[in-house]
Amino acid sequence: MPELPEVEHVVRALRRGVLGRQIVATEIHLPKLVSPSSASTFSRKLKGSRIIAINRRGKYILIELEKLNARGRALTNALTNEGATASSLKPATEQVLIVHLRMTGKFMVLTPDDELPRHAHAVFYLDDERRLVFRDQRQFGIMRLAAKSRVGETKGISELAPEPFGSDFNVGYLKETLSRSRRTLKTLLLDQTRVLGLGNIYASEALFRAQINPFRIASALSSKRTERLHQSIRDVLRAAVSSNSSRRLNLEDPKGFSYGEAFGKVWQVYDREGKPCFKCGTRIKRITHGGRSTYWCPKCQRR
Ligand SMILES: [Zn+2]
Repeated sequence: MPELPEVEHVVRALRRGVLGRQIVATEIHLPKLVSPSSASTFSRKLKGSRIIAINRRGKYILIELEKLNARGRALTNALTNEGATASSLKPATEQVLIVHLRMTGKFMVLTPDDELPRHAHAVFYLDDERRLVFRDQRQFGIMRLAAKSRVGETKGISELAPEPFGSDFNVGYLKETLSRSRRTLKTLLLDQTRVLGLGNIYASEALFRAQINPFRIASALSSKRTERLHQSIRDVLRAAVSSNSSRRLNLEDPKGFSYGEAFGKVWQVYDREGKPCFKCGTRIKRITHGGRSTYWCPKCQRR
C-alpha cells in the first residue's frame, strides 16, 4: 500500500505529466469507483475541465479543475476581441477531483498507440491525445468530485490531523496528542486523525530512529523523547520523499514503478526481520498484530 511519501511522488509525477491539460472526455468502467455519483454525471461534470493544480492532503490526491461553461467561453471570446485579458474572467466552476489510491490504485499516462491495460477503471481523454488512466487491481480506490471550497469538509479529509511538514504539527501538538492516549505508540502513530503521514512502514522507521519502544503507552512518553519522536517523524518522511529524487516516478513508463525498489534504501528496520540492526548488530524483531507487522530492534528500542 502506498504511504504518504509515495503519494507525494505520484502528485509530483502527475504535475509533470498532465498539469495544464484539458479533459475532453471521461470513461468510467467501474461504477463503484465514483459512487455515490453515477458514472454519467461524473463524466459530464469533468468534460471540458482544465487541470490547474495538483496537490495532496494526507494520502488524498487533489486534482484542481477549472471549467468554463458555454457562456463563460463566449464571454472570453468577446472580451479577448475587445482586448481584455482572460485572467479578468471568473471561471464558471472550480472543482476538485479527490482521489485515494488505497491498496493498489495507480495512475499512468498512455499515448494513442498504447493499449489499454487490464483493470483500467477510469480513462481521462486529454486534449493532447494522451489518456490519463487509473488502474486498480484490488478496486478499493475512490474518486469524488467536490467544489473547491468544500474539499476540507469532505468525509475522510475533514478528520485528518495536521500535515507532518506544516507548522501545526509541532512538538506541542504531539505532546498534547500523546498525553491523551492510552494506546501504544505504534497504534497511535497509525491513526491519521491524530498523527498524519505514517503508515505501517514509516511508523516502525520513525520509532527506530527515535530509539523508542513501539509498545510503550503513548501518554507515558517523556517530554524529551516526544521531541525526539517529532524530529524522527519529519526526518523519516523527508528522507523517503527525497530518496527517490534521482529516480523520478514516470507515469508513461510501461513497466510501472516498484515502491520497494525506490524506497527500500531508507528502511532500517522494516522488512528486515532476523537481520542485524545497522546500529548495534542485534537481530531485528517482528510482531504481527491485526495483519500489520511491527519491526524493531530489541536493544536500541528497549524502552
Ligand atoms: Zn539496534
